[in-house]
Parts: sequence; structure tokens; C-alpha cells
Amino acid sequence: MSIPVDLRSDTVTRPTPAMRRAMMDAEVGDDVLDGDPTVRQLEQRVAAMLGKERALFFPSGTMANQTAIWVLAERGHEVYADAGAHVVHYEMAATAALGGVQIRPVSPSGDVMSADDLEQSFRPPSRHAPRASLVCLENTHNGAGGRVTPLPALRALQEVAVARRIPVHLDGARLWNASISLGTPLDALASCADTVMVSFSKGLGAPVGAALAGTGQAIDAAHAVRKRFGGGMRQSGILAAAALHGLDRHLGRLTEDHEHARLLASALEGVHGIRVVPPDTNIVMIDLPPEVDAFAIVEAAAREQVLLTPWSRTRIRAVTHLDADAAAVLRAAEVIGEAMRGRGG
Ligand SMILES: *Cc1c(COP(=O)(O)O)cnc(C)c1O
Repeated sequence: MSIPVDLRSDTVTRPTPAMRRAMMDAEVGDDVLDGDPTVRQLEQRVAAMLGKERALFFPSGTMANQTAIWVLAERGHEVYADAGAHVVHYEMAATAALGGVQIRPVSPSGDVMSADDLEQSFRPPSRHAPRASLVCLENTHNGAGGRVTPLPALRALQEVAVARRIPVHLDGARLWNASISLGTPLDALASCADTVMVSFSKGLGAPVGAALAGTGQAIDAAHAVRKRFGGGMRQSGILAAAALHGLDRHLGRLTEDHEHARLLASALEGVHGIRVVPPDTNIVMIDLPPEVDAFAIVEAAAREQVLLTPWSRTRIRAVTHLDADAAAVLRAAEVIGEAMRGRGG
């Protein structure tokens, strides 16, 4: 039996022995009572990296996104977001259920919402229509296959929002990947938004955590909302130590994940009937011909110890990460090829 290959997400990584040691050695305090020194260190480091006044540690990216929406958007108003965004599909309608705001999904004309798409989606002023309160961006864009939005496009999106005096939140769960792929500094990308969420539990390999960065005023407000959401954590320095270790040791190696994604894409090129979306970062979208069921292919691959995500009836998602080397992605390509041949693809 070969070693299992799990490409369902970059969240499946397990903390390395060195990361676990860093967690064990972390200096801690009660972060709800009067502060945890390691959490403080992480928050200051992330704020500096993103060029923001302050940052706040969160148990999850979802909570950080929803906190930003709560802080920046007004109840009864609308949040504009790409129709394929994480906040639209994977956050349990928290925007409506908790924040009291409605999402206006913007259908992108290309892979990801552009400034034009955004501009054209605004409603004409009317006494009956909800007002626009916030624009939410996502970089890299998960649903679009880890697509990067380059700096000029981000700036253009920001300008559309600024012209309407609307703030911008950036869901940057994988902003690290975007920065590396584009060769654009994190703070430049982050400068296109008022608040930015980054995740430590994706490519950086930490077990838990995200941060929200912004002005001191926004982060003060976010602190209160995090408390309301039940996100106050006590000796959270243990978790912050894992995130700091990820920044120290795993940020630079994200290029390897991008190389492995390209390797997987090129290894699948020869498989009859398959069309692979050329990856910008660590996410590979594999499109199957309409007569082949993605769920059946994913099941067949799982029987061979290769785990993938059926993204839709005809699309499979594979994500490269810290725990998947070149041999692992080549094994995945081989198993997908076998599964396709088994189905006459
Ligand atoms: C994973 C992810 C999130 C949510 O992060 P969690 O820590 O899993 O809650 C938000 N946005 C994007 C784009 C993501 O990929």
C-alpha cells in the first residue's frame, strides 16, 4: 500500500515537530484578562508585514472575515463580493445571520471580479434599494482556483469603492501565496483595503488561527466583536507560537507548493479528456468532460489513497502543501489518470 496523498486542502497539514516544540516553549499569559506576550508579538509582526496600524489574532479566518463585515458594514445595507467568494459560499450565511447585512454577489466577467464588474453592479439610487456599505475582495481567490488579483487590478477595485465612500475588506486567507506568485510585497497588496484577513492554518501549516489587520480604530472595534462572537482566547500564545513558526519557516517555501501545483497540472495534461486550469498558486482545478462524474473519479482515487475534493459534478480541486512533495503529486496524477481510463475517459 502506498503512502496516502491528501490534496483536499492546504489545511490538512499537521504541525511539524519543530512547530510543536515552538508551541511547547511559548511564553504565555491570559489574553482575555491582560494579554499574552506571544500573541502580542504575532499581532505586531503581522501588522508590520501588512503595513497596518494593528492586527488581532483570531481562532479562524471565518470569524475574522465576519468581524470585519460587522465592523465595516451597516445593518440593513449590502456587502458587494465576487459571486464565488468564500464569504458567499462557505460562511453559513453569517453575514445575514449575525451581521444583519445582505450580500450582493457580483458575477465576474473573467475569473475574478474586476473594477468594471463591480462598478456595473451598483444599483441606481432608489428609496427601495439597499445601500452599498462594503466591498469584500478575495486574494488569492479560492473558488477561482487560487487565482491572483495583481496590484493594478486591486487598486482599480479600491478606487471604485473609494469613489462611493465605501470601505474595502480583503479576505487574504492566502494573501501569502498571492504575494509570492506576483512578486508584490504583502503591504502593497494590503494597502488596497481597509481591513485584511490572513490565515495561518493554510499554507503556513499552523493548526489554528488567522489575523485581522487595519487601523487602530477598526481593530478596537474588532476586539469587541471578537468577544461577542466568543473568540476571546486565554493562553493563546501556544497557537500564536505556531503561527510565528509558520511565518519564520514556511512562508518562503510556498514557492515549492506553487511548483508542485504546476507539476501536477503538467502531469495531467496528457490525460485524455481532462482540462487543467493553469495554476497561479497552490490550487489546481481539474475539469472533466461532461460524461465523467467528478464524484466517481474522487471515490476511485480515494480507494487508491489519493484524496481530492469534488468541486462540482465536472470539476475536481487539488491543493498542494507542506505535507505533499513532488512524488506525492505525481502519484496523484497517475491515480487520476487510471481512474479516468477506468471510466473510458
Ligand atoms: C479558508 C478560507 C477562509 C476561512 O478560514 P477558516 O480559518 O477556515 O475559517 C476564508 N477565506 C478563504 C478564501 C479561505 O480559503
